[in-house]
Amino acid sequence: MNEVTCKKIWLSSPHMGGAEQVFVDEAFETNWVAPLGPNVNGFESDLQSYLNDGNYVAALNSGTSALHLGLKLLGVSKGDEVLCQSLTFAASANPIIYLGASPIFIDSESETWNICPIQLEKAIKDRIAKGKKPKAIVTVHLYGMPYNVDEVHRVAQNYEIPILEDSAEALGSSYKGFKCGTFGEMAILSFNGNKIITTSGGGALITNSKVLKDKAIFYATQAKDNAPHYQHSEIGYNYRMSNIVAGIGRGQMQVLDSHVSKRRANYAFYENQLTDYSEIEFLKEPKGSFSNRWLTCILTDAFETREKIRLALAEENIESRPLWKPMHSQPVFKNSIAYTNGVSESLFERGLCLPSGSNLETADLERVVSIIKNVLK
Ligand SMILES: *Cc1c(COP(=O)(O)O)cnc(C)c1O
Repeated sequence: MNEVTCKKIWLSSPHMGGAEQVFVDEAFETNWVAPLGPNVNGFESDLQSYLNDGNYVAALNSGTSALHLGLKLLGVSKGDEVLCQSLTFAASANPIIYLGASPIFIDSESETWNICPIQLEKAIKDRIAKGKKPKAIVTVHLYGMPYNVDEVHRVAQNYEIPILEDSAEALGSSYKGFKCGTFGEMAILSFNGNKIITTSGGGALITNSKVLKDKAIFYATQAKDNAPHYQHSEIGYNYRMSNIVAGIGRGQMQVLDSHVSKRRANYAFYENQLTDYSEIEFLKEPKGSFSNRWLTCILTDAFETREKIRLALAEENIESRPLWKPMHSQPVFKNSIAYTNGVSESLFERGLCLPSGSNLETADLERVVSIIKNVLK
């Protein structure tokens, strides 16, 4: 088969429900074509009720800007150290650099692939012994799998270090019945094109305080003082979400739960089909964890197997991706300190993300699986 006859299968593509267009049209009809308006307020309140009472959401133009403002509101500034999960997308770590602070990377545990509580505690003790207490911790629910919330937060609380929870991949996931995005002092979401719901591009900052939400919006709208003229006592940013984009978000909220079900069904399909192949492992949900299964990832027995599968899929016009390359192995962070145990490097070597969109059809999944089985036979 070649690219002409063989339909492209994406890793994770946008999936509209239908109502998005209605909210966007309404914004045009009422001339709310601006970075504020009824869709922005409506999307925020949809997210607040989804996450449950007591959470305040500020809609922003990306998950990355939400991380930047979150760290700023936690008081991170020049010269500070911030602990950050190493196995993640670069956007979890870059905002630490924007603020003139230094990231210190923490390796993963094999149970969740997320930040290892043992390495975390070791790092905190060591940084304190070296004379500097870390200012904040960036945790990540990678691929939708909740990190070990109880242990990680116990450690953080012990040393009184606030957590900024990167929930960009985990909208719809939960831990012991509570939604991801509600555990940290602050949390962020992303609505980029590849996420479980998308606004084309967008993000949100979540806090449990109205004061902090208002402060986030203040910084996101150029830090304008309360005056009739333009007056500024602080440096601001242009980070607010557009009312057009928020209209897409309101429509997507209506289909979020069905996207979660579909992605979990994708995972179940792959696991069921490939369960007899000893070369392949799946990441199981620990007790109490509920993953949105944003992406289904397999762990192969060796780098060579991973590459054979990836190349065979690419040959058939199917996108798959190695897991995130750990930040402590990235050229741009080669001078950063890291507390490692080998887990994330091994995951990177052997792991592969399979097509996982909520708009995939059974025939698509069958195509993927038959190619993998062919490689392993
Ligand atoms: C997507 C993503 C981000 C960044 O979100 P954007 O909206 O693309 O800026 C941050 N962290 C993780 C883990 C992500 O997957």
